[in-house]
Amino acid sequence: MREIDCRLVEEKVHQFLDGELSEREADVLRHHIDACAHCLDETDLVDALKKLVKRSCTCPPAPAALRLRIVSQIKTVTVTRFDL
Ligand SMILES: [Zn+2]
Repeated sequence: MREIDCRLVEEKVHQFLDGELSEREADVLRHHIDACAHCLDETDLVDALKKLVKRSCTCPPAPAALRLRIVSQIKTVTVTRFDL
């Protein structure tokens, strides 16, 4: 796994949350955030994802595919964190 810079994570995290990154990029980002307490704090990734899910649950027009993608991202984050 190629190492990436904390600043790159900060730049990319919004695209990540919007699901705009390629699967490979998102994976690299997830791995870094999971291993880097600084980025986890900075990005509040899990909180942000939870808010996104909450928003799509109270907002019926949110496409089911998007909600599925967000949920699977949360699962991946949770599973990787528990692996530590
Ligand atoms: Zn970092």
